[in-house]
Amino acid sequence: MSDGPPYSNRSGIDVHGTGTGTWMVQRTREQLPRPPAQPIVGISPDLAFIHANRTDPALTWIGHSSMLLQIDGVNLLIDPVFSARASPVRFAGPKRHQPPGLSADQLPRIDVVVLSHNHYDHLDRRSMRDVARQTGGPPAFIVPRGTESWFAANLPRAARDARVIGCAWDDVVRWPGRTRELELHFLSVQHWSNRTMLDHNQSLWGSWAIVHPDFRFWYSGDLGYSDEPRDIGARFGSFDVAAIAIGAYEPRWFMQAQHVNPEEAVQVMLDVNAREAIGVHWGTFALTDEPLDQPPRDLAAALTARGLPPDRFRVMRHGETRRFGLPGTPAAVDIP
Ligand SMILES: [Zn+2]
Repeated sequence: MSDGPPYSNRSGIDVHGTGTGTWMVQRTREQLPRPPAQPIVGISPDLAFIHANRTDPALTWIGHSSMLLQIDGVNLLIDPVFSARASPVRFAGPKRHQPPGLSADQLPRIDVVVLSHNHYDHLDRRSMRDVARQTGGPPAFIVPRGTESWFAANLPRAARDARVIGCAWDDVVRWPGRTRELELHFLSVQHWSNRTMLDHNQSLWGSWAIVHPDFRFWYSGDLGYSDEPRDIGARFGSFDVAAIAIGAYEPRWFMQAQHVNPEEAVQVMLDVNAREAIGVHWGTFALTDEPLDQPPRDLAAALTARGLPPDRFRVMRHGETRRFGLPGTPAAVDIP
């Protein structure tokens, strides 16, 4: 038995915070990140559609990696963060650049909360508590193995009522849709976990394939580039839509192992064989050195460089909903 943390990347890369001090000195000296060149402005959410939707696959971007995914009458909330900061404390830490595209009290009834890993910009105590207190009782929380203890400590009632389902890599949770079943597959990608200085890789991290007979979706979670997206593509064949992290990538010497840049994100889309992709993990919390509005610009350049059309991999506005056609109908319809 080794004394190392219980979980490690399949790629063999150990991602950790070593070098944080050097990075903090550099970014302070260079006054990074610079503010966005253009304001990043959200839109009013289409609450009438979101609350009535029982049929159409649809994705609403709340901001950063928080999304509402609707498939076959099931409302899935991914990595919900509504708080003003992505931080353990309210008075410090990366501050939200604009309000969430959907506030917690604008949500429809949530059936399932899906968590990718325990970093503060993905797992937020107040947001999880708000969702747990929804009218009609808490949703199910489908979470990485090792985070169950966080839920037991912070959402004791949901944990006691067995509404918290911990998953190891390659585990599958089946969930009934209105007409047919969804499968949620927890899949490895290269990243790490921690919430304190003392819990390095004590819980898992990963991506989620959410597969329904009519709609196949993949959420990358946070990831550095590795062979794993290609393995996921080989295993699942294809996805209709992938939500892929495109932000928080500079400086590369520090971020490369844990966060892809837009160029690598395009490769990830091709690796998993997604028909189209949506960029997440940007535009909301200034976590790293690139300006908040840099990821979409770099994404556009990466698509051009690969000879791919701009609508193959796009970003959304905070609060925007995209509806995806069922097979045989046009791929996606923008809501005006
Ligand atoms: Zn992370």
